[in-house]
Amino acid sequence: MPKMPSMPAPADADERRGKPAVVVYPNGTLPPADMPMLEAARDGMTKIDEVIVPPRDARAFKAPKGHFFRIVSVEGAQVGDLNLWNVDDLSERFFSGKTRALHATHVGVGDRLWSTLPTLRPMATITHDTLGWYGWDADGAGVHDVIGTRCDPYTNRLLNGDDYHHCCHSNLTRALASARNISVREAEPHVHDVLNVFMCTGFSQDTHQYFMKASPVRPGDFIEFFSEIDLLGALSACPGGDCGATHSSDTSACYPLKVEVFRPDPASLKGWVSPAVNAYPRTHGLG
Ligand SMILES: [Zn+2]
Repeated sequence: MPKMPSMPAPADADERRGKPAVVVYPNGTLPPADMPMLEAARDGMTKIDEVIVPPRDARAFKAPKGHFFRIVSVEGAQVGDLNLWNVDDLSERFFSGKTRALHATHVGVGDRLWSTLPTLRPMATITHDTLGWYGWDADGAGVHDVIGTRCDPYTNRLLNGDDYHHCCHSNLTRALASARNISVREAEPHVHDVLNVFMCTGFSQDTHQYFMKASPVRPGDFIEFFSEIDLLGALSACPGGDCGATHSSDTSACYPLKVEVFRPDPASLKGWVSPAVNAYPRTHGLG
C-alpha cells in the first residue's frame, strides 16, 4: 500500500518512475540443469519409498542424491509446506528468498531449489509438475510459491490471541525432532521458510498484499524433484487445507499428502555430478 499518499510528488516524478525495469538475475545466467538427461532418467525409474503425511501434521523423508521424489495429492485438495536440509549438515537448508530472487515468486519445471549461504548450490531441480498448465491467472496468482514463510503459532498468537499447535511450523518442528531423535527445542531453529507446494498465491494488484486462493490441485496431481545432494525433507499438510479460506485452525477440510522416492537407472544419469558447494573463499575482503 502507498507509504505516504499525501506526500506531494516532485516535478520529475514521472521521469523517475519511467526508468526501465531490469530483471535482477536474467534467465540464462544461471548454470542450467540438464533437463533432457533428467527427462530420460525419469523413464523406468523404480519407486523405493513412500511416506504418507497425515492432515495437519508433517513427516520427514530421505531423498538421496541422484534420486527423484514426488509430492502427490491424494484424497482432496491440500497444500504442503516443504523444508529441505543436507542430510549430513542441517545448517545447509533451503533458501526460499534466494530461490525467489533467482527464479520467480513461483517455481516450476527447470527451476532449482537453492541452499543457504555459504553453500548456495542447487539442492533439488523440479523435473515434472502436473499443475504446470496453471500459469498465471486473472488475479496474477500462480502455484508453488516461494513467497510465504509457513503458518506458525507465534503469528497466530499475535493476531488471534490463542495457541494452535498444528501450524506448519510446529508440524515441521515435530517431524524433524522425530527424524533426528532430538527435542523440539533443538529442532525448531532448523525449520525454515518453505516451498509452498500446490499453494495458489499472489500479490493483490491494488495494495500488493500477499493473498491466497483455493489450490487448483486435485488427487493424482504431483510435483517432482531431482535430488542434487543427499536430502532430508519434511513436508507438512497445512491446516489450511486447500488454503482457500483460512489456516492456523481446525476449520478447513484437510487431506493427507504422499511423498514418493524413486531410483533411476544410474547409467541414465550420464555426465551428472552432484553440485559442489559455492566456490567463494569466504574471506569477505579480509585475507
Ligand atoms: Zn501451513
